[in-house]
Amino acid sequence: MSSQNVFIPTLDQAQTITAQYGSPVFVTDKQTIVDRVQTFKKSFSKQTKIFYAVKANFNPHVLSVLKEAGVDGIDTVSPYEIALAKQCGFAPTQIIFTGNASSDQELKEVMQHEVLCNIGSISELERFGRLFNGADVSLRLNPGVGDGENQNVITGGQDSKFGIIQRDMPIAKALLSKYNLQLKGIHCHIGSGFYETDVFAKAVYLILEQAATFANLDFIDFGGGFGVRYQRSKDPINVPSFGNAIVDMVKNFEARNGKPIEIRFEPGKYLVSEATCLLSSITTRKSTEEKDFVCIDTGFHHLIRPALYGSTHEIINLSKTVGKKERVTVVGNVCESTDVFADNIELIDPNEGDIVAILSAGAYGASMSSVYNLRPYAAEVIVDGDAMTLTRAPQSFDLMFKGLGFTQL
Ligand SMILES: *Cc1c(COP(=O)(O)O)cnc(C)c1O
Repeated sequence: MSSQNVFIPTLDQAQTITAQYGSPVFVTDKQTIVDRVQTFKKSFSKQTKIFYAVKANFNPHVLSVLKEAGVDGIDTVSPYEIALAKQCGFAPTQIIFTGNASSDQELKEVMQHEVLCNIGSISELERFGRLFNGADVSLRLNPGVGDGENQNVITGGQDSKFGIIQRDMPIAKALLSKYNLQLKGIHCHIGSGFYETDVFAKAVYLILEQAATFANLDFIDFGGGFGVRYQRSKDPINVPSFGNAIVDMVKNFEARNGKPIEIRFEPGKYLVSEATCLLSSITTRKSTEEKDFVCIDTGFHHLIRPALYGSTHEIINLSKTVGKKERVTVVGNVCESTDVFADNIELIDPNEGDIVAILSAGAYGASMSSVYNLRPYAAEVIVDGDAMTLTRAPQSFDLMFKGLGFTQL
């Protein structure tokens, strides 16, 4: 089923792209993104809206593909993300701002954009109320449960800094009335990379219980976090089963709300991760008495997920389909010991000059990139069948350095 594929370019494609734009380079398959949007839309009922979490991948060409494929809006976490969403044609009503630890200045910028603020703490709600008496607002709740592919990406539960916990709800309600704030929606986002329907369903249940204590809400937003496959051996997440799990709960809720409710989701990685791989070339082979290293021409400045979260992205040697499988440790070219992509994996006969593909690199890859070690961002390309579009150009020293904003010596 094409909609389930993790994108891998052919060797031909990879050679053409690296010859033209250099290595490393992110390659994104347009059709895979379109498939994900469609699968998601079909899995939930009609009044469900997708607000793509743009922090996962803010390449404007990717945004444009998502928009064309039917994404309804954008979830943002900073004023500049709002500016980008607007530039890509999204109206203020199609944008929500879920800040965290927002300063007064940031809140003012968001309100100047006429975008709805989704507030996740009592402190911010108090300051928001003082600044914008009578304004529309949404509340980010912490339902007391969290989930994710590992501890580092869980954003619900009592250990988490995100959202307003149940204990504080009376204070939140008092602040809403003190400042005459109009509560438009309830939001939660419990973590990133969950696969199991039951934890999700439990969070939905708890949020709906909270939401039912308010009347006349316009929307409930269940956030993102739908898991993706960093290894092709993992079963794909069953999004339709998430959809089925919540239908009745939402119906019951609507009966209590007094009017139909718009259900929103904010998938980030689900829509873009599996559509992109990071192509890189093997520069060096070396070994110690413990390890056999494959060293490649990229590092955590382009894909920090392995170093930051311990994520294991599948890596394959595109240049070889036959040959001896070797047990190796794949490391990057950054001067840091944590710059390891994968430890103790099998690659087919890895040699200098071979092109490797790091899979499912479309979310929190390029968007978390840095110029550490003063290496430029990787180029980005979108492929659509035989067509190929450069979406981020390789950077010269001058171009890259200019963007860093240092003043003249
Ligand atoms: C990051 C984030 C998302 C998206 O998370 P994914 O795991 O990429 O789906 C959604 N909502 C909010 C508020 C976020 O911060």
